[in-house]
Amino acid sequence: MTDDIAQYYQQIISALGENPEREGLKDTPLRAAKAMQFLTHGYHQSLQEIVNGAVFESQTDEMVLVKDIELYSMCEHHLLPFIGKCHIAYLPNGNVLGLSKFARIVDMYARRMQIQENLTREIAEAVQQVTQARGVAVVIEARHLCMMMRGVEKQNSSMTSSVMLGDFRANQATRQEFLTLVN
Ligand SMILES: [Zn+2]
Repeated sequence: MTDDIAQYYQQIISALGENPEREGLKDTPLRAAKAMQFLTHGYHQSLQEIVNGAVFESQTDEMVLVKDIELYSMCEHHLLPFIGKCHIAYLPNGNVLGLSKFARIVDMYARRMQIQENLTREIAEAVQQVTQARGVAVVIEARHLCMMMRGVEKQNSSMTSSVMLGDFRANQATRQEFLTLVN
């Protein structure tokens, strides 16, 4: 599979007018293939595998917020990166999720071809599914290289997306508390 992808990269390099045999590019198709496979390895992970039983009983019913989770993904329209931060909150309903698992859930969905809106929703639904929380809120702020490097070249623009589930959706005070903590 890696070799197939490397061959395609070699063709792309040729089609762009470069010489894929020259010294600096000789190993590029293989390196690029491996990099692209790494950037899309989320397709080969499952929620069950990454959570791996790290759901613990807890009586806390106060909001749990995990802020500033680094996020690296790739837009499905241009195959260029988008980079940002993800904030996740949930209202436990008898269970809490191990802290490190939030970053792993973010990664699993970010390491795919994505659009930011779908990524936000997938993370929220995964946290909901795993914790059975009373509510889940996810906000992603990201800068898209496809906007910054090409086309309109709006280098300082960033995009914010959010998904509110359960009590975060139904209860405005809860939602407001979350947004205040995030901003
Ligand atoms: Zn794009």
